[in-house]
Amino acid sequence: MADYNKPIPEADPYVTQPFWDGAKDGKLMLPRCTDCSKVHFYPRIICPHCQSFNIEWVEASGNGTIHTFAVQQRAFGGWAEEVPFTTAFIDMAEGARMLTVLRGVDSTNPQSIKIGSKVKVEFEKASDDISVPFWRVVE
Ligand SMILES: [Zn+2]
Repeated sequence: MADYNKPIPEADPYVTQPFWDGAKDGKLMLPRCTDCSKVHFYPRIICPHCQSFNIEWVEASGNGTIHTFAVQQRAFGGWAEEVPFTTAFIDMAEGARMLTVLRGVDSTNPQSIKIGSKVKVEFEKASDDISVPFWRVVE
């Protein structure tokens, strides 16, 4: 999109393509090990829990909670115009953790942002092929 002015991730055909294909369709896809059944994030070709190479992709619920967060007061490039904004680690319902920029919070009032709050994933179209996931507080 012409109005998306932040760095655009590049899909890796061997590792992350299914993630970006899903994101383009509004689906949160996570790699899951078929040996230990655990999901992980970021995508890797080897399971970080049991070192298996047997990875499949599953659609996640898109539900999670805030694990922790930090308000960013300085940024560069396209992010500079969003200062202050809040970054957070999200504990996804399926068990993995994702770093995100939180949507739906008042970053000028950090006391209003609560660890443990429920969040839902949403996607922002960055280019024809890449949509970037963000998480929005829903409670
Ligand atoms: Zn495993």
